[in-house]
Amino acid sequence: MKVKFWGVRGSIPTPIKPSQLQSRIAAIVQRIQPSDLISQESRDAFLAGIPPYLIETVGGNTTCIEIRLKDDSCIIIDAGSGIRELGINILKKRDKARKFHIFFTHFHWDHIMGLPFFDPAYIPGYELHFYSPVKHMEKALREQMEVPYFPVTMKTFAADLHFHTINDEIMNINGAEISWRRVKHPGGCFSYKISECGKDFIFSTDTELTERDFRRSPENTEFYEGTDLIVIDSQYTLGEAIEKYDWGHSSYSLAVDFASEWKIPKVVLFHHEPKYEDKKIYKILNSAKWYEKHIENSNLEIYLAKEELEFTL
Ligand SMILES: [Zn+2]
Ligand SMILES: [Zn+2]
Repeated sequence: MKVKFWGVRGSIPTPIKPSQLQSRIAAIVQRIQPSDLISQESRDAFLAGIPPYLIETVGGNTTCIEIRLKDDSCIIIDAGSGIRELGINILKKRDKARKFHIFFTHFHWDHIMGLPFFDPAYIPGYELHFYSPVKHMEKALREQMEVPYFPVTMKTFAADLHFHTINDEIMNINGAEISWRRVKHPGGCFSYKISECGKDFIFSTDTELTERDFRRSPENTEFYEGTDLIVIDSQYTLGEAIEKYDWGHSSYSLAVDFASEWKIPKVVLFHHEPKYEDKKIYKILNSAKWYEKHIENSNLEIYLAKEELEFTL
Protein backbone atom coordinates (compact mmCIF):
# COMPACT_ATOMS: atom_id res chain seq x y z
CA MET A 1 0.00 0.00 0.00
CA LYS A 2 0.99 3.62 -0.54
CA VAL A 3 0.30 6.44 1.89
CA LYS A 4 0.34 10.04 0.71
CA PHE A 5 -0.17 13.26 2.69
CA TRP A 6 -2.41 16.05 1.37
CA GLY A 7 -2.96 17.98 4.59
CA VAL A 8 -0.91 17.83 7.80
CA ARG A 9 -1.77 20.98 9.81
CA GLY A 10 -3.87 20.91 12.91
CA SER A 11 -6.91 23.01 13.65
CA ILE A 12 -6.95 25.54 10.78
CA PRO A 13 -5.28 26.01 7.36
CA THR A 14 -2.00 27.89 7.72
CA PRO A 15 -0.70 29.32 4.44
CA ILE A 16 2.81 30.78 4.41
CA LYS A 17 2.78 34.61 4.66
CA PRO A 18 4.49 36.91 2.10
CA SER A 19 6.76 38.33 4.83
CA GLN A 20 7.84 34.79 5.83
CA LEU A 21 8.64 33.97 2.22
CA GLN A 22 10.61 37.19 1.80
CA SER A 23 12.70 36.60 4.92
CA ARG A 24 13.46 33.04 3.77
CA ILE A 25 14.63 34.26 0.37
CA ALA A 26 16.78 36.92 2.08
CA ALA A 27 18.32 34.26 4.36
CA ILE A 28 19.10 32.01 1.38
CA VAL A 29 20.61 34.85 -0.69
CA GLN A 30 22.86 35.81 2.25
CA ARG A 31 24.36 32.32 2.24
CA ILE A 32 25.41 32.41 -1.41
CA GLN A 33 29.16 32.54 -2.08
CA PRO A 34 30.50 33.30 -5.61
CA SER A 35 31.85 29.72 -5.78
CA ASP A 36 28.29 28.39 -5.33
CA LEU A 37 27.32 29.80 -8.73
CA ILE A 38 30.09 28.60 -11.01
CA SER A 39 28.46 25.40 -12.32
CA GLN A 40 25.25 23.40 -12.26
CA GLU A 41 26.89 21.02 -9.75
CA SER A 42 27.87 23.84 -7.40
CA ARG A 43 24.36 25.34 -7.63
CA ASP A 44 22.81 21.93 -6.88
CA ALA A 45 25.19 21.43 -3.95
CA PHE A 46 24.29 24.87 -2.62
CA LEU A 47 20.57 24.14 -2.80
CA ALA A 48 21.08 20.74 -1.18
CA GLY A 49 22.87 22.40 1.73
CA ILE A 50 20.07 24.85 2.60
CA PRO A 51 18.27 23.90 5.82
CA PRO A 52 14.84 22.36 5.13
CA TYR A 53 13.03 25.01 7.20
CA LEU A 54 14.14 27.60 4.61
CA ILE A 55 13.68 25.66 1.37
CA GLU A 56 10.76 23.40 2.29
CA THR A 57 7.42 23.74 4.01
CA VAL A 58 5.28 21.12 5.69
CA GLY A 59 2.32 22.78 3.97
CA GLY A 60 -0.68 24.63 5.30
CA ASN A 61 -3.65 22.34 4.62
CA THR A 62 -5.57 20.48 7.30
CA THR A 63 -5.86 16.71 7.61
CA CYS A 64 -6.23 14.53 4.52
CA ILE A 65 -4.40 11.27 3.80
CA GLU A 66 -4.67 9.12 0.68
CA ILE A 67 -4.03 5.38 0.84
CA ARG A 68 -3.73 3.36 -2.35
CA LEU A 69 -4.13 -0.37 -2.07
CA LYS A 70 -2.34 -2.93 -4.21
CA ASP A 71 -5.13 -2.82 -6.83
CA ASP A 72 -4.98 1.02 -6.80
CA SER A 73 -8.30 1.39 -5.01
CA CYS A 74 -8.41 4.58 -3.00
CA ILE A 75 -9.02 5.06 0.71
CA ILE A 76 -9.02 8.60 2.10
CA ILE A 77 -8.86 9.49 5.78
CA ASP A 78 -10.47 12.83 6.66
CA ALA A 79 -11.61 15.62 4.41
CA GLY A 80 -9.68 18.60 5.77
CA SER A 81 -8.68 21.33 3.33
CA GLY A 82 -6.05 18.97 1.86
CA ILE A 83 -8.77 16.95 0.09
CA ARG A 84 -9.28 19.86 -2.32
CA GLU A 85 -5.79 19.31 -3.80
CA LEU A 86 -6.35 15.56 -3.85
CA GLY A 87 -9.56 16.05 -5.86
CA ILE A 88 -7.81 18.37 -8.32
CA ASN A 89 -5.01 15.81 -8.72
CA ILE A 90 -7.45 12.94 -9.31
CA LEU A 91 -9.07 14.81 -12.19
CA LYS A 92 -5.81 16.19 -13.60
CA LYS A 93 -4.11 12.83 -13.87
CA ARG A 94 -7.29 11.16 -15.15
CA ASP A 95 -7.20 8.72 -12.28
CA LYS A 96 -9.00 5.47 -13.06
CA ALA A 97 -10.49 5.25 -9.56
CA ARG A 98 -14.21 6.08 -9.56
CA LYS A 99 -14.94 4.94 -6.04
CA PHE A 100 -13.51 6.69 -2.99
CA HIS A 101 -13.71 5.25 0.52
CA ILE A 102 -13.56 8.22 2.90
CA PHE A 103 -13.09 7.47 6.60
CA PHE A 104 -13.57 10.13 9.27
CA THR A 105 -11.59 10.24 12.50
CA HIS A 106 -14.11 12.77 13.88
CA PHE A 107 -16.06 15.80 12.73
CA HIS A 108 -14.09 18.76 14.02
CA TRP A 109 -14.09 21.35 11.32
CA ASP A 110 -10.44 20.95 10.33
CA HIS A 111 -11.25 17.33 9.35
CA ILE A 112 -14.34 17.99 7.18
CA MET A 113 -13.95 21.54 5.82
CA GLY A 114 -12.48 20.42 2.49
CA LEU A 115 -15.33 18.12 1.49
CA PRO A 116 -17.40 20.87 -0.23
CA PHE A 117 -14.31 21.50 -2.42
CA PHE A 118 -13.67 17.88 -3.45
CA ASP A 119 -14.28 18.18 -7.20
CA PRO A 120 -15.15 14.51 -7.94
CA ALA A 121 -18.19 14.93 -5.64
CA TYR A 122 -19.81 17.15 -8.28
CA ILE A 123 -19.27 14.74 -11.19
CA PRO A 124 -21.78 11.98 -12.06
CA GLY A 125 -20.25 8.51 -12.21
CA TYR A 126 -18.13 8.85 -9.06
CA GLU A 127 -19.04 7.02 -5.86
CA LEU A 128 -18.23 8.44 -2.46
CA HIS A 129 -18.46 5.99 0.43
CA PHE A 130 -18.27 7.66 3.84
CA TYR A 131 -17.35 5.67 6.96
CA SER A 132 -17.37 6.41 10.67
CA PRO A 133 -18.37 4.60 13.85
CA VAL A 134 -20.51 7.70 14.62
CA LYS A 135 -24.22 7.43 13.74
CA HIS A 136 -24.70 11.15 13.06
CA MET A 137 -21.98 11.26 10.36
CA GLU A 138 -24.40 12.11 7.54
CA LYS A 139 -25.98 14.92 9.54
CA ALA A 140 -22.57 16.35 10.50
CA LEU A 141 -21.39 16.36 6.88
CA ARG A 142 -24.60 17.78 5.42
CA GLU A 143 -24.94 20.54 7.99
CA GLN A 144 -21.67 22.26 7.11
CA MET A 145 -23.13 22.82 3.63
CA GLU A 146 -26.38 24.36 4.83
CA VAL A 147 -27.31 28.04 4.51
CA PRO A 148 -25.72 30.36 5.71
CA TYR A 149 -22.44 28.40 5.89
CA PHE A 150 -22.11 27.43 2.21
CA PRO A 151 -23.73 28.60 -1.04
CA VAL A 152 -24.94 25.14 -2.14
CA THR A 153 -26.11 22.13 -0.17
CA MET A 154 -24.86 18.58 -0.44
CA LYS A 155 -27.79 17.89 -2.79
CA THR A 156 -25.64 19.44 -5.54
CA PHE A 157 -23.18 16.54 -5.25
CA ALA A 158 -23.68 14.53 -8.45
CA ALA A 159 -21.63 11.55 -7.27
CA ASP A 160 -23.42 8.61 -5.63
CA LEU A 161 -23.20 9.00 -1.87
CA HIS A 162 -23.18 6.09 0.56
CA PHE A 163 -22.96 6.48 4.34
CA HIS A 164 -21.67 3.53 6.36
CA THR A 165 -21.76 3.41 10.15
CA ILE A 166 -19.03 0.94 11.03
CA ASN A 167 -19.11 -1.39 14.03
CA ASP A 168 -16.54 -3.37 15.98
CA GLU A 169 -16.03 -5.92 13.24
CA ILE A 170 -12.95 -5.67 11.07
CA MET A 171 -13.96 -4.30 7.66
CA ASN A 172 -12.62 -5.51 4.36
CA ILE A 173 -12.13 -3.21 1.38
CA ASN A 174 -10.71 -4.90 -1.70
CA GLY A 175 -8.48 -7.21 0.32
CA ALA A 176 -7.40 -4.66 2.96
CA GLU A 177 -8.56 -5.07 6.54
CA ILE A 178 -9.60 -1.95 8.42
CA SER A 179 -10.09 -1.73 12.15
CA TRP A 180 -10.42 1.21 14.55
CA ARG A 181 -9.88 2.31 18.13
CA ARG A 182 -11.34 5.12 20.18
CA VAL A 183 -8.74 7.70 21.30
CA LYS A 184 -8.90 10.51 23.84
CA HIS A 185 -10.02 13.79 22.24
CA PRO A 186 -12.77 16.30 23.11
CA GLY A 187 -16.01 14.94 21.62
CA GLY A 188 -14.35 11.62 20.72
CA CYS A 189 -12.06 10.55 17.88
CA PHE A 190 -11.03 7.29 16.23
CA SER A 191 -7.74 5.96 14.96
CA TYR A 192 -7.70 3.58 12.00
CA LYS A 193 -5.50 0.64 11.14
CA ILE A 194 -5.24 -0.56 7.56
CA SER A 195 -3.59 -3.92 6.88
CA GLU A 196 -2.77 -5.33 3.47
CA CYS A 197 -0.29 -7.98 2.26
CA GLY A 198 1.17 -8.38 5.76
CA LYS A 199 1.81 -4.65 6.24
CA ASP A 200 0.05 -2.49 8.82
CA PHE A 201 -0.50 1.25 8.82
CA ILE A 202 -2.06 3.22 11.71
CA PHE A 203 -3.41 6.74 11.45
CA SER A 204 -3.97 8.33 14.85
CA THR A 205 -4.55 12.07 14.68
CA ASP A 206 -6.22 14.24 17.33
CA THR A 207 -5.04 11.86 20.01
CA GLU A 208 -4.11 12.73 23.55
CA LEU A 209 -2.08 9.70 24.53
CA THR A 210 -2.81 8.45 28.02
CA GLU A 211 -1.64 5.65 30.25
CA ARG A 212 -4.47 3.53 28.75
CA ASP A 213 -2.76 3.61 25.34
CA PHE A 214 0.49 2.24 26.81
CA ARG A 215 -1.23 -0.53 28.79
CA ARG A 216 -0.26 -3.96 27.53
CA SER A 217 -3.85 -5.19 27.24
CA PRO A 218 -4.68 -7.85 24.61
CA GLU A 219 -6.66 -5.21 22.64
CA ASN A 220 -3.78 -2.70 22.59
CA THR A 221 -1.24 -5.39 21.75
CA GLU A 222 -3.38 -6.68 18.89
CA PHE A 223 -3.94 -3.20 17.47
CA TYR A 224 -0.59 -1.49 17.94
CA GLU A 225 2.29 -3.91 18.40
CA GLY A 226 4.59 -4.38 15.44
CA THR A 227 2.70 -2.00 13.13
CA ASP A 228 4.98 -0.95 10.26
CA LEU A 229 4.11 2.75 10.12
CA ILE A 230 2.20 5.10 12.39
CA VAL A 231 1.12 8.65 11.72
CA ILE A 232 0.50 10.19 15.11
CA ASP A 233 -0.63 13.43 16.68
CA SER A 234 2.38 15.32 18.03
CA GLN A 235 1.05 18.86 17.95
CA TYR A 236 2.84 20.08 21.05
CA THR A 237 6.17 20.44 22.72
CA LEU A 238 6.35 18.72 26.10
CA GLY A 239 5.83 22.02 27.96
CA GLU A 240 2.72 22.84 25.99
CA ALA A 241 1.29 19.35 26.36
CA ILE A 242 1.45 19.82 30.13
CA GLU A 243 -0.13 23.28 29.87
CA LYS A 244 -2.79 22.02 27.48
CA TYR A 245 -3.74 18.91 29.38
CA ASP A 246 -7.17 17.68 28.18
CA TRP A 247 -7.03 19.63 24.89
CA GLY A 248 -6.88 16.34 23.00
CA HIS A 249 -3.37 16.39 21.50
CA SER A 250 0.01 14.87 22.33
CA SER A 251 3.61 16.00 22.61
CA TYR A 252 6.25 14.75 20.18
CA SER A 253 8.07 13.06 23.06
CA LEU A 254 5.02 11.05 24.07
CA ALA A 255 4.47 10.10 20.41
CA VAL A 256 8.06 8.80 20.29
CA ASP A 257 7.61 6.93 23.59
CA PHE A 258 4.45 5.38 22.20
CA ALA A 259 6.02 4.17 18.93
CA SER A 260 8.97 2.84 20.86
CA GLU A 261 6.78 1.03 23.39
CA TRP A 262 4.79 -0.73 20.64
CA LYS A 263 7.84 -1.45 18.46
CA ILE A 264 6.54 0.56 15.51
CA PRO A 265 9.69 1.22 13.44
CA LYS A 266 8.48 4.24 11.44
CA VAL A 267 6.71 7.16 13.08
CA VAL A 268 5.41 10.29 11.37
CA LEU A 269 4.78 13.41 13.48
CA PHE A 270 1.41 14.87 12.48
CA HIS A 271 -1.25 17.58 13.11
CA HIS A 272 1.28 20.39 13.33
CA GLU A 273 0.37 23.33 15.53
CA PRO A 274 -0.84 26.21 13.29
CA LYS A 275 1.01 28.75 15.44
CA TYR A 276 4.35 27.12 14.64
CA GLU A 277 6.35 28.20 11.61
CA ASP A 278 8.28 25.60 9.65
CA LYS A 279 11.46 26.41 11.57
CA LYS A 280 9.88 25.39 14.85
CA ILE A 281 8.27 22.27 13.34
CA TYR A 282 11.66 21.12 11.98
CA LYS A 283 13.15 21.83 15.40
CA ILE A 284 10.53 19.52 16.90
CA LEU A 285 11.67 16.81 14.46
CA ASN A 286 15.28 17.25 15.62
CA SER A 287 14.22 17.22 19.26
CA ALA A 288 12.17 14.06 18.68
CA LYS A 289 15.21 12.36 17.08
CA TRP A 290 17.43 13.51 19.94
CA TYR A 291 14.93 12.27 22.50
CA GLU A 292 14.58 8.88 20.78
CA LYS A 293 18.34 8.29 20.98
CA HIS A 294 18.03 8.34 24.78
CA ILE A 295 15.40 5.61 24.92
CA GLU A 296 16.93 2.23 25.62
CA ASN A 297 16.58 -0.39 22.84
CA SER A 298 14.76 2.04 20.59
CA ASN A 299 15.51 2.17 16.89
CA LEU A 300 12.90 4.38 15.26
CA GLU A 301 12.84 6.25 11.98
CA ILE A 302 11.11 9.56 12.69
CA TYR A 303 9.61 11.76 9.98
CA LEU A 304 7.65 14.99 9.77
CA ALA A 305 4.35 14.82 7.95
CA LYS A 306 4.56 17.11 4.91
CA GLU A 307 2.20 17.65 2.03
CA GLU A 308 3.08 15.38 -0.94
CA LEU A 309 5.23 13.06 1.23
CA GLU A 310 4.67 9.41 0.31
CA PHE A 311 5.42 6.07 1.94
CA THR A 312 5.27 2.65 0.33
CA LEU A 313 4.65 -0.34 2.57
ZN1 LIG B 1 -7.72 18.29 14.23
ZN1 LIG C 1 -10.16 17.48 16.76
